[in-house]
Amino acid sequence: MPEAPPLALVWFRDDLRLADNPALRAALDAGYVPVPIYIHAPDEHGTWRPGGASDAWRHRSLAALDTDLRKRGSHLRRFFGPSLTTLQSLVLATDAQAVFWNRRYEPYIEKRDTKIKQALRRMGLEVESYNGALMFEPWTLRTKQGGPFKVFTPFWRAALANWKDEPLWEPPASLPDTREGPEGVPLAALKLAPQRDWAETFWEHWTPGEAGAHAALETFVDGALRGYASQRDRPDRVGTSRLSPHLHFGEIAPWRAAAVLQRERNAGNARDVESAIRELGWREFAHHLLHHFPDTPEQNFNPRFTDFAWARLSQPKLEAWQQGLTGVPIVDAGMRELWATGWMHNRVRMIVASYLTKHLRYHWRHGARWFWDTLVDADLASNTLGWQWVAGTGADAAPYFRVFNPVTQAEKFDPDGDYIARWVPELAALPAPLRHAPWRDPQALRRAAPDYPPQPLVDLGAGRDAALEAYRKLRE
Ligand code: FAD
Repeated sequence: MPEAPPLALVWFRDDLRLADNPALRAALDAGYVPVPIYIHAPDEHGTWRPGGASDAWRHRSLAALDTDLRKRGSHLRRFFGPSLTTLQSLVLATDAQAVFWNRRYEPYIEKRDTKIKQALRRMGLEVESYNGALMFEPWTLRTKQGGPFKVFTPFWRAALANWKDEPLWEPPASLPDTREGPEGVPLAALKLAPQRDWAETFWEHWTPGEAGAHAALETFVDGALRGYASQRDRPDRVGTSRLSPHLHFGEIAPWRAAAVLQRERNAGNARDVESAIRELGWREFAHHLLHHFPDTPEQNFNPRFTDFAWARLSQPKLEAWQQGLTGVPIVDAGMRELWATGWMHNRVRMIVASYLTKHLRYHWRHGARWFWDTLVDADLASNTLGWQWVAGTGADAAPYFRVFNPVTQAEKFDPDGDYIARWVPELAALPAPLRHAPWRDPQALRRAAPDYPPQPLVDLGAGRDAALEAYRKLRE
């Protein structure tokens, strides 16, 4: 009888795709039968256990991955953690010779993975990890002095100078399978799908999984890419790619997104393509920062802010912000878009974050936590960068004294108030200028929206002055 080919565990994590999957490819190239597995271990994320929206997405993305594997004759086995003991017992039960995975970069996970790699190698296994998530892994780019970058522009310049087109890899039409070892648990047993029906509205907007990721990229290329450079700040239009959750869960490789964008480049859209690829660069920069400054999800990047006089948190005010009831329409529209879709436009993320950290003067961590639980693209690197950038405490941050005026921001980026009318429909009956600042006509506001706050939670002028005063004291 011919000897059965050896098995390799392919441990899927935040790389829920088959195309351009270096770990899967390595297993196949080395002649192994890949055994695709997923291990649910929510307790292994330190203080950043995945939030509710992430879990809801992951549930669907895992289902899609299993379907894609089954179409090729393989299938996904799901297990509950702890990761190391699960891997060890799987190795013993299947007699697998190797374990392959794609790397993650959250500091806590990096440490865990190093220990797992060492322990599995001690068992005599072939254990390899690969880059499945980034165009530039955090340690590959360095300043001339050899240190990490803290400012985006030079980081991006170095990235462009070191750019190498990664060859794209299509998975084979059929994959070998095995029935050796335990089959794991049904998807429902991972309890990722929310108990509440809150996430149900998400799926009108999203299709988690690899096919959904490719479709989103195509839609972008055929539509919003044209004009992206000038429209990407307009929340009232579909002006961006909406690829962020797909990229976060690794349903598409960033180098494929960049390659497809490059392929579309022509004389008419060069600026748009460059601008879109540069945004992918911010994601790379975020991972670079998180790797080199692993405390930043909790600590101010800029230590000068340690003594900053953040305001004492009022729970009702925080909840008004979370629920989109601050009385500032552009802020409320963003927070309601987030609740209904698990996503918020980047410009509006900046506006709501500025309102929380400057007008309300609450520590950015309160906002980062809420985003963490409610965003389908919640990502430790990008979320940390985004919050610290807006709060003015970060690397390459907007200075603290730059306080966004949410009314002028709304007038500029949602000039007709269409975005506001969509997400705060009780204000739709008001003419555009009033949608931006409805308190300017109390009677009209009362008539149109009797339940909407008659005044902003904090007076915009007074909030701004108090923030600047706190900053002035810090500088003294
Ligand atoms: P596009 O404009 O189409 O950009 C393409 C891709 O580039 C995005 O999918 C994303 O992967 C990347 N990108 C774009 N802008 C940024 C950026 N500023 N930082 C990092 N990557 C970027 N993004 C997340 O993916 N997860 C988060 O948890 C997250 N939290 C944020 C919190 C705050 C306070 C702020 C201001 C921004 C945050 N961002 C986060 C960045 C940005 O808002 C989103 O990546 C973007 O809105 C996603 O929409 P898109 O895919 O249509 O982006």
